[in-house]
Amino acid sequence: MIAPMKTLPFSLAQARAIVAAHPTPFYLYDAAGIRGAARALNATFAWAPAFREYFAVKATPNPHILRLLAEEGCGADCSSLPELLLAEHAGLAGEHILLTSNDTPAEEFVAARRIGALINLDDLGHLAYLARYAGLPEFISFRYNPGPLREGNAIIGRPEEAKFGVTREQLFEGFATARDAGVRRFGLHAMIVSNERDPGSVVATGQLLFGLVAELSAALGICFELVNLGGGIGIPYRPEEAPVDLHAIGTGVRVAYEATFSGTGLPRPALAMECGRLITGPHGYLVASVRHLKRSYRSYAGLDASMANLMRPGMYGAYHHISVLGKEHLPATERYDVTGSLCENNDKFAVQRPLPTLAPGDLLVIHDTGAHGHAMGFNYNGKLRSAELLLREDGSTQLIRRAETVEDYMATIVW
Ligand SMILES: *Cc1c(COP(=O)(O)O)cnc(C)c1O
Repeated sequence: MIAPMKTLPFSLAQARAIVAAHPTPFYLYDAAGIRGAARALNATFAWAPAFREYFAVKATPNPHILRLLAEEGCGADCSSLPELLLAEHAGLAGEHILLTSNDTPAEEFVAARRIGALINLDDLGHLAYLARYAGLPEFISFRYNPGPLREGNAIIGRPEEAKFGVTREQLFEGFATARDAGVRRFGLHAMIVSNERDPGSVVATGQLLFGLVAELSAALGICFELVNLGGGIGIPYRPEEAPVDLHAIGTGVRVAYEATFSGTGLPRPALAMECGRLITGPHGYLVASVRHLKRSYRSYAGLDASMANLMRPGMYGAYHHISVLGKEHLPATERYDVTGSLCENNDKFAVQRPLPTLAPGDLLVIHDTGAHGHAMGFNYNGKLRSAELLLREDGSTQLIRRAETVEDYMATIVW
């Protein structure tokens, strides 16, 4: 059996040259792929009066990636002080930066106000808190949680049980309070699903939010200038899966938008999304080497990377495709548990995965790790986070984050 394939944006010779300069494990991001994904999303909403993708910084928090996306017109969606500062380092400013946080500390509101970022509130109480610590801005958005009105999905969970956002009733109260306090510009946001490839789910979010904008505008006499459909668009992690149909998202959201805003006298709001995974997920690769092969009750391939470098398989049981460089066309005659070196049995990149026969030193590429990959890394068991490299459009590579060292690991200890 030949295992189903996923293509790579680099050759075996290129990979060997990179490994000679940068020892494994490392993350490699494909600049052309990331740019292409941003362009495709922008094209999806080219019909809207104004559209901006605020890239979810938490997915790939590296200013080099943010700068590349800024060149494509993207802003940054931040949810912590360091993320706000990363966005600034990438050259973003003002309303190209969006703060969507929860349980928000005063320092984030202060930084967002200093930057002039758009602020999206997770709770009504945050309005007075924001006013007290940072002053009320001209623009306010609230995050809506539809509760029992919408199903969530496996990763994000049921909206009713989610800590995020406010209820429908609270939206009316919150916007009225903001209006009375002098806020003049309004936005509405929801983020309901995660890694969802059904275009209908984004369309349904659009319908829900557009309808609410109409109701809130009529009830409160306010105008909305921004509707933010959130992130959560999924990617095909398995080679047999299809990418999301962006055209269906674009046309579906457009129909809902026109139904609400055409000829009704309501001002036409700008649209935004805050996708992370869709933009960088498929265009990042964790490259690792086989260190040891072991056979006990099963066959194990032990890598020089561990779940400290990529948590998704251990945390969600997530599938990540694995290519063995130079052996892509060999039959997958073996079954391996592909592991790291952590003292945790869920430290596995794959369980019982059919692969060609491996040898120590083989280079493995773990696909679709560009989003929520390196970013979720941790130091448990004294494991160190890897380097990040950017594969540029001219074929050269640039080190955009060095690997952690033992000195980094010890740096916070008070001896
Ligand atoms: C995580 C997150 C995103 C990005 O999610 P993706 O699945 O990477 O698109 C967007 N918005 C908010 C509020 C988030 O928490």
